[in-house]
Amino acid sequence: MRTYAFRLYPNRDQRRRLDACLAVSRQLYNEMLECVKQHQQETGKLLGKYDLTKMFKGRSGVSVPASTVACLADRLAKALKAFLAQRPEGQGFPRFKSGNQWHSIHLRQWGKSDDAWIDGRYLRVPAKLGKAIKIKRHREIEGTPRTCYLIKRANGHWYAQIVCALPAQADLSHPDDDRPAIGIDVGLKVFLADSDGNTVENPRYYRASRATLRRKQRRLSARVKGSRRRRKAARSVAQTHLKIDRQRRDFHFKTAKHYADAYRVIVVEDLNIAGLARGQLSKSIFDAGWGTFLDILTDKAESAGGQVIRISPRFTTQKCSQCGELVQKSLSVRTHICPSCGYVADRDVNAAKNILRAGAPPSGTLAVGLAVELRSP
Ligand SMILES: [Zn+2]
Repeated sequence: MRTYAFRLYPNRDQRRRLDACLAVSRQLYNEMLECVKQHQQETGKLLGKYDLTKMFKGRSGVSVPASTVACLADRLAKALKAFLAQRPEGQGFPRFKSGNQWHSIHLRQWGKSDDAWIDGRYLRVPAKLGKAIKIKRHREIEGTPRTCYLIKRANGHWYAQIVCALPAQADLSHPDDDRPAIGIDVGLKVFLADSDGNTVENPRYYRASRATLRRKQRRLSARVKGSRRRRKAARSVAQTHLKIDRQRRDFHFKTAKHYADAYRVIVVEDLNIAGLARGQLSKSIFDAGWGTFLDILTDKAESAGGQVIRISPRFTTQKCSQCGELVQKSLSVRTHICPSCGYVADRDVNAAKNILRAGAPPSGTLAVGLAVELRSP
């Protein structure tokens, strides 16, 4: 699946309709949640997607397309499922959504005469949302569109996010491809370190934007609750978040492209593997963006005829990449110094070398001692 985001240019009437749809669908969602809670209190059971869809049939009113109501039931059912699964990320019970937590309208079925489709310079949407909204398609779509979300960003701009199924990847790998393999480790101080000894710093503007964010958040908390000035300050905070997200995304794409172009095999740690060792688990907290980056990297590598191999991150930090000795070190120790063979390296670079060896051992050797758990991407 690949998602494309295109800017929408709704006119005044369409803007009003979209805003109304957002507001009413949020109310419906909260009402559904209320029903679920009540039903649970009375019967001890949770309502499912089909129960909710049935209960809210015909409730779409003048603002919300009927299929979007079904999507709301889906969304809530999914949140309940995540709660029941008690995933390690610790999903709580779904909560009532306030106005600034609700930004999207799901148009389920993509296709001509369905919920959404593209018609020249317009995105065709249900009549309740204004029929045809001007769209700027700044690039071609690859794959088959399946579904679509209309998203309102913090700066008030609307976007269509079109989710496309990609054709089965043709094998683009080339027998004469002599690009090398590389291991990449998520850095503690830097963004990443690779097995060639390079590190990629977190970009400077991150820090600048974060300082701005802190200042704006201080201002927000000083404003009187419910006041107009507080609302204004909240919008300003949201815009800075938006800016940081975009900077991060841009940085992820550029970094991913660099590695995807230069290397045929890229070995990384999969921090989502359950049952990580304590020391490793703390690592995933350092950058929640790592997962997003890996998805982008995988996509880019495949388009360039390469592949990303994910390995279990066991012992990658402790192990000496030269002799295999386990050298314990706390998070604050930045340098790997091996008492056995005398090898000295940046701790992340040492880890990256272990990662490379685990996923792509040099020909003629075996990855000794490292638990290799391949997971198909
Ligand atoms: Zn050593």
